[in-house]
Amino acid sequence: MTPLHKLLLLFLVSTFSLLGFAAYTVQSVPNPKNEYSDNFVSNPDGILSDSAVVLIENIAADLRSRTTVELAVVAINGYVDKYYDIEHFANSLYNYWGIGGGDKSQGVLFLLDTNERAFRIEVGDGCEGLLPDIECAEIQEEMLPYLRENDWDNALVVGASLVYDKLTTDEAVLELLIGYKKKDDITSSFAFNYIFWSFAILLLAVLLAVIALTKRKKEYNSDAYKRARNIYGILAVISIIFPLTVGFFAGWYRKNIMPYVRKRPVVCPDCGKPMHLLSEEDEDEYLDEKQILEENIKSIDYDVWRCDGCNKKIVLSYINSLSSFSVCPRCGARTMTKLPDKILVSATRSSTGKGLHRQECKYCGHRVIVPYVIPIIPPPSSSSSGSSRSYGGSSRSSSGGSWGGGHSSGGGSTVRF
Ligand SMILES: [Zn+2]
Ligand SMILES: [Zn+2]
Repeated sequence: MTPLHKLLLLFLVSTFSLLGFAAYTVQSVPNPKNEYSDNFVSNPDGILSDSAVVLIENIAADLRSRTTVELAVVAINGYVDKYYDIEHFANSLYNYWGIGGGDKSQGVLFLLDTNERAFRIEVGDGCEGLLPDIECAEIQEEMLPYLRENDWDNALVVGASLVYDKLTTDEAVLELLIGYKKKDDITSSFAFNYIFWSFAILLLAVLLAVIALTKRKKEYNSDAYKRARNIYGILAVISIIFPLTVGFFAGWYRKNIMPYVRKRPVVCPDCGKPMHLLSEEDEDEYLDEKQILEENIKSIDYDVWRCDGCNKKIVLSYINSLSSFSVCPRCGARTMTKLPDKILVSATRSSTGKGLHRQECKYCGHRVIVPYVIPIIPPPSSSSSGSSRSYGGSSRSSSGGSWGGGHSSGGGSTVRF
């Protein structure tokens, strides 16, 4: 490298850095809210004077304390090309920082770009009612004489004051704060409604239990039990929504009401005398082979009642809903069970296979066989299993200062000068 080249390079480098032309991305604009500061103004290129920054900071802090609205003021000298215009850059920056306090998105961003000679007011979703585009344009109209004169200080102080004035009228403050309170009201009324309905439905649950307990004439315990079990099914579903009231009640109901309904005293339908429930050992002589098998495999439980007066016997059946046994189509006993599937032709990567679903009756030996198709074996999965990774979710430090997490859908106005 000749001395002349060196000199030229030095000249280029120093010119470049003296111009201070550091084009910004939304990530590289210094955020006035970070773990060390809770400010509103970002002035990395020194476009604004220190005294103007102090003035704007005071306006913004006052605005936030009165209305919860966050006003961010950014003055830069150029942004990188990938943002195709100042609207795009301002909207991206707004949402990247998440400007907006109170009821979220109650925020305003001032973006001055002295390189493009453009000034944008970006309005968060929560302020669009009070600062519609036309109001923003009016504010910019007032700022325009200063902007044309490169009087950035006065332009932005005037703009910030006008925003302050518009958002701190009695009506505006009321609207902003009511907007903020509305959510509280909604959540508290939801909680109230939930508690109210929890108990109202509990009352209904108690009523259902009374229906379950009501003894009908000439009704066997097994029929009453069936009704009580159906009611339990309803209670179990309601418990999903109201676990603390109906849920507890359903548990108590299952433990107390249902066994009571099954075992409560029975009178003989023939002579009207009381009947006795036989013990498990004594009842077997009144059950046939099928019923004994069903009891042994726990698909059906039987209660046998015997009349003290006329010696009449009643056999009542209770199907175990948790049992996997089904009813045999030939003998009618609930003794049908699944056998392992029989594979006739195995599936491969390229062709389906054939198999048989098989069921057999434990009592009569009857078999039910249903052919089925085995699907093609899928190719080995490369990395679809295991933990899924997620990207994004900008994690901002919440200690110190941070913006309120607002969002802008692109409301606002731009002026070029
Ligand atoms: Zn009798
Ligand atoms: Zn059978």
